Amino acid sequence: MNPQVATLSGKPLRIRMQEVDNVAIVANDGGLPAGTVFDDGLALREHVPQAHKVALVDLPAGTPVLRYGVVIGYTLKDLPAGSWVNEHLLRMPEARELDDLPIATVKAPLQPALEGYSFEGYRNADGSVGTRNILAITTTVQCVAGVVEFAVKRIKDELLSQYPNVDDVVGLEHTYGCGVAIDAPNAKFPIRTLRNISLNPNFGGEVMVVSLGCEKLQADRLLPPGVIPVTVERPQDTPLDVVCLQDEAHVGFMSMIESIMRQARVHLERLNARQRETIPASELVVGVQCGGSDAFSGVTANPVVGFATDLLVRAGATVMFSEVTEVRDGIAQLTARAATPQVAEEMIREMAWYDDYLAQGSVDRSANTTPGNKKGGLSNIVEKAMGSIIKSGTAPISGVISPGESLRERGIKSGLVYAATPASDFICGTLQLAAGMNMHVFTTGRGTPYGLAECPVIKVATRSDLARRWHDLMDLNAGRIADGEASIEELGWELFRMMLDVASGKKTWAEKWNLHNALVLFNPAPVT
Ligand code: CA
Repeated sequence: MNPQVATLSGKPLRIRMQEVDNVAIVANDGGLPAGTVFDDGLALREHVPQAHKVALVDLPAGTPVLRYGVVIGYTLKDLPAGSWVNEHLLRMPEARELDDLPIATVKAPLQPALEGYSFEGYRNADGSVGTRNILAITTTVQCVAGVVEFAVKRIKDELLSQYPNVDDVVGLEHTYGCGVAIDAPNAKFPIRTLRNISLNPNFGGEVMVVSLGCEKLQADRLLPPGVIPVTVERPQDTPLDVVCLQDEAHVGFMSMIESIMRQARVHLERLNARQRETIPASELVVGVQCGGSDAFSGVTANPVVGFATDLLVRAGATVMFSEVTEVRDGIAQLTARAATPQVAEEMIREMAWYDDYLAQGSVDRSANTTPGNKKGGLSNIVEKAMGSIIKSGTAPISGVISPGESLRERGIKSGLVYAATPASDFICGTLQLAAGMNMHVFTTGRGTPYGLAECPVIKVATRSDLARRWHDLMDLNAGRIADGEASIEELGWELFRMMLDVASGKKTWAEKWNLHNALVLFNPAPVT
């Protein structure tokens, strides 16, 4: 993908993604006024805001509008060359049906293996690798959240300084656990999500649980025997470490806090004995997603992520892309890129499940777009999807997991994986944590201060204007591509190297400010 930038900085700039496209987006900060003339003579008939589309040729009513070489809509009236093409002037195409899709038809040229790249990480007993060394306290139910929060604060204030190799203490709080139809078939989604997050590689296999006692999600249902990896310190048949608040031994609130702190010490001791060691880049498990997207997302930041995705796959790492409603309109591209027919079938199954889920709420994938997306020049979900899919790069898609599943339980150790999740930033991040992500890459155009306590999040800005204003929140400025200052390749490599540095302990902006979004479970099952 090499977007064509019409002119150099300081002049009217527009970006067309592919030769066949009949629209381009205006790149200049603040947009361009009516009467602006580009070098090739195209004149704007009206003000076109930054990131919004301009008609490159006359588009009579009913003309397919092409961006990324794909029909993103049909003009509702005659639009002469130089017109502003926005969501009010387009009819959206129907979603592609899920039958007769091309199956594993793209034979991607084999990219040479990328060797010699490494980072300093924490090797776990089960072979997985953490990029952080965090004590996570699992909770079975929301009822215990306040107590755990109180205990975590005391652990940080009074204990953490004695364990210098431990990065942080995190309470895995959530809104599940009781008041829910726990035997409903779809309850498997939230339950396995919580289970698999507890086993995220950044927590070193040190699982401790705080439960209330009377809740539906009992501790041994959440973490049944055998799911926690066996280690020298934790041999076979070691009982689950549970502090139960309703235990009769607890007399008074402080007795609960002291129990949690006593158990925390045991795990902090073991976590503190770990040291970073040199680990090949193949052990990175990267989750990519976007949030607060604009029309630049698919031009600058997402292609940079896509380039880095290809580098990671070549290095033998695992990369997950997600966000069902943002890839649904590109399903034909994805099934074509499947490494095997089985992978394509699994993707189709995930899409069909989600189509049904949305239909139950009387909506479809078009419910995804936000007012900010539209203000940022994205007319509809088709245009947004084409820009979103680019994060997945060009490698064959070699695996698929369902919401809340882990890569480990599906036997996936490398390659490009479609991890089916909602596009909601918080739910996508939560499910990618459950999948086993040890590095998160997040692109944004409108701007979001998103961060996670459980895993480093590298944020990539789509525009220089955002990167300038949010200079202490954005880790990488992909807007330099639209400014003509850097290429996708250059920034793709920069992001790849940044991932290795961050994996080795370098803090992201979100970590420096301790910006932590809540875990949000995907629960399609009934509550009671
Ligand atoms: Ca998202």
